Amino acid sequence: MSRVSVEVDKTYGATLSFYRLGKGKPRVLVTGAMHGDEVIGTYSIRRAISSLDERTLKGSVTFLPVSNPLAFRCRERASPVDSTDLNRVFPGDEKGSVSQRLAHTIWQEATQADYILDLHGCGMSCIPYVLCLHQEFDYVREYVRKLAISTVVESSGLRGQLFIEASHKKMPAAIIEAGSHRGIFNTDHADQLYRTIFGLLASLSIIDEKVPLAKQRFYGKISNTKVDEEDFFIPRVTAGMTVKKGDLLGVMTTEGKKVLSQHSGIITSVQMPGVVFPGDSVANIAEEI
Ligand SMILES: [Zn+2]
Repeated sequence: MSRVSVEVDKTYGATLSFYRLGKGKPRVLVTGAMHGDEVIGTYSIRRAISSLDERTLKGSVTFLPVSNPLAFRCRERASPVDSTDLNRVFPGDEKGSVSQRLAHTIWQEATQADYILDLHGCGMSCIPYVLCLHQEFDYVREYVRKLAISTVVESSGLRGQLFIEASHKKMPAAIIEAGSHRGIFNTDHADQLYRTIFGLLASLSIIDEKVPLAKQRFYGKISNTKVDEEDFFIPRVTAGMTVKKGDLLGVMTTEGKKVLSQHSGIITSVQMPGVVFPGDSVANIAEEI
């Protein structure tokens, strides 16, 4: 294993550390903490690096445990220096802000890869799911079948995200969202991510191992159900449940008003019991297709 550190900004101490294992094709890039508080990817990647270090690989994998080092240190989503969301500025700019330069450096690495996997967090009340452009690109759809996660969701396609920009350049790329935010994470989801990394490498024959593929279900884009008043929300559903339009999602406590689903599909995340304000989403639902 070799570690390559790239100093992106000296003043703020923004350095990216890439860990390279094996050599040659196929080349896989796995990134974590693109949003600094979504640390589940970093944790899973560090575990994967230590268990892969002694093994012989047929091909190569580069891990970037922390893509957004300044935000990571603050357990914040965006950079504390330029308040920019790193996953909105790809392919970056060599002469831009710190975030744009981080994106540029990561993009250089990404363009060398045959497959890209970016690990994110969807809060602490969500199910793990793959987010990708499976409806647009056959090579993306084929790629995500190698990921041992049963729920596959179509992305909104918002530009400036690493996986979206890569997918448009014919590079198979996807995000996995799993339970994590504000510097904490779900350990069961972390185990799944760890196994998914191994499964991906096994299905590309980079490591010699039998890892069963997941039975997957493909969904459309995520829609959210929003509330229009300040109140306390108590959910009556959990993430992973499938619902139909009109089904009960939860109640607002003041007058017992029911919050009904505006969509049919699988609940990828649901608001935990707590205060809500007008415009807050209480449930994200990946729609049936
Ligand atoms: Zn994220």
